[in-house]
Amino acid sequence: MKLNYNRTKIVATMGPASAKKEVLLAMIKAGVNICRLNFSHGKVQDHKAVIDTIREINEEYKTNVGILADLQGPKIRIGLVKDGGIHLKNGTRINITTHELIGDDNQIYITYPTFPQDVQKDEIILLDDGKIQMKVIETNRKDTVVCEVVHGGILTSRKGVNLPNTKVSIPSLTEEDLYNLKYALEWDVDWIGLSFVRTGQDIDELKKIIAESGKAAKVIAKVEKPEAIENIDEIIAATDGVMVARGDLGVEMPLEEVPLLQKMIARKCREASKPVIVATQMLESMITTPRPTRAEVNDVANSVLDGADAVMLSGETSVGEFPVIVIETMAKIVRNVEELGYPYNSNKEAAADAASPEYLVSAVCGSAVYLAEHTNAVAIVAMTRTGYTAFQIASYRPKAFTYVFTPNKHLLNALSLVWGVKTFYYDSLESTDKSIADVINTLKAEGFVESGDVVINTASAPIAELGKTNMLKVSVV
Ligand code: PGA
Repeated sequence: MKLNYNRTKIVATMGPASAKKEVLLAMIKAGVNICRLNFSHGKVQDHKAVIDTIREINEEYKTNVGILADLQGPKIRIGLVKDGGIHLKNGTRINITTHELIGDDNQIYITYPTFPQDVQKDEIILLDDGKIQMKVIETNRKDTVVCEVVHGGILTSRKGVNLPNTKVSIPSLTEEDLYNLKYALEWDVDWIGLSFVRTGQDIDELKKIIAESGKAAKVIAKVEKPEAIENIDEIIAATDGVMVARGDLGVEMPLEEVPLLQKMIARKCREASKPVIVATQMLESMITTPRPTRAEVNDVANSVLDGADAVMLSGETSVGEFPVIVIETMAKIVRNVEELGYPYNSNKEAAADAASPEYLVSAVCGSAVYLAEHTNAVAIVAMTRTGYTAFQIASYRPKAFTYVFTPNKHLLNALSLVWGVKTFYYDSLESTDKSIADVINTLKAEGFVESGDVVINTASAPIAELGKTNMLKVSVV
């Protein structure tokens, strides 16, 4: 039997290193489930070529690789600086201005028009992922903020700015995001990521635009701001999935808090049956070397143990020298944890309460996992139109592989992000018995089950309506 695939999924960021079809195909064969297009870089149209390549591979090799379009959100940057870099010395003062100019030792431009109005004296300004730190001395509340350099260094053009203490008034979807979103939706991507989410309302606004476009894309909230941590419950309730964006989170929050925040977010997402991606610097050293550090191996393994649905690569696969080796390495680390130490079949702490409309479905899904555990089943099968059953079953982290059969084409690739799930297209909804027989035949033909294996089928009866999941069947192949 083909055993089988990693249950914890791999998200790979696309870039020059992974753009060629043969490289991408090798990466997908090595374990990539979702390709991430980072709309912070490159021209929007350049992403279309990558999307076409992913779809060609899906078509030719019968894969279900999903696409995540990651919007920049209200990211703040400085402008160009003279000679490619300026040296900021500790204790010196520098003006930050909202007038566009080439920066020098006296003043630099910031892409945040209301910065002088929003910022307060003594607030911290971090530049270039926190490598340079400044403090606000005074603001004229119009166009200029005077700062003192606390930790200096060489500042190069267009570096990112983080304002951990400032209540940033820039809208969560900038004009650039709206422009990029229009294309991402037109191209029917499976997931839209939104950076620097602050509230549940940020997600509601994005979802409204998606709904108005008539598209089915699902939303990932990138959690990377202190405000998002404060509002984490409403954000998880509003979104379809979450990314623990540790790069910016570790700049905006004290670095040492990131490990426990990751565990907290992963736990809450699982309780809510929403997929969670752990991102950034997972195998960072592999950008330039073919073997990771031991600490990186531990980080990937511990993220799997924390309950991540997916682990993500950024520079490692977008610009790194070893895009295929890095996926092979990550897949091996994931698989080793899943074979030797994964806490499968866990009880969720927060079962939906009896008054909730989802209570019965949730109980059937939890029971499917329990039944699979006690019958040593190799597979749990879900039939779903909305994906709800798939998200539910996955959240119990069953040891049995979860096969999802759906007549909803939009779900086929989107569910590739979800822990443990493999999808199949299926629309012959005549009778429950026939569907169960069809499903088992398909799994047998694909080599995922063999004679004598126990399979747990979840379904809805009557099947033609494919309504809420309301039944379980134990089958022996
Ligand atoms: P980014 O998000 O790659 O868009 O910066 C991830 C992070 O901040 O960790």
